[in-house]
Amino acid sequence: MKNYKHDGSCTVCNEIRDGFVCLHHLKSRGSGGSDDSYNLLPLCHWCHVTVHNIGLVSFAKKHESVKSFLLRNNWELCSGKWIHQANNEEVLNGKK
Ligand SMILES: [Zn+2]
Ligand SMILES: [Zn+2]
Repeated sequence: MKNYKHDGSCTVCNEIRDGFVCLHHLKSRGSGGSDDSYNLLPLCHWCHVTVHNIGLVSFAKKHESVKSFLLRNNWELCSGKWIHQANNEEVLNGKK
């Protein structure tokens, strides 16, 4: 898990803690995920820990704002995976 400085606020709770939010890679860099904005979800430290604990699929189910971020960025939920429509990237559960 890596922290990036970012001037936005957390997608889930709108908080900025310690002056920065993390940019969570929806598709992890380890599996070839890019640094493009569609793949980066701005989260505060605590929400970031949570997405790593429960995985993206459950996280998006719990938080409407995360789901709308994904849909806005061309991700679509197909049989338990988030699939990026333009780039054909997929996130199975996003657990790491
Ligand atoms: Zn992350
Ligand atoms: Zn948060």
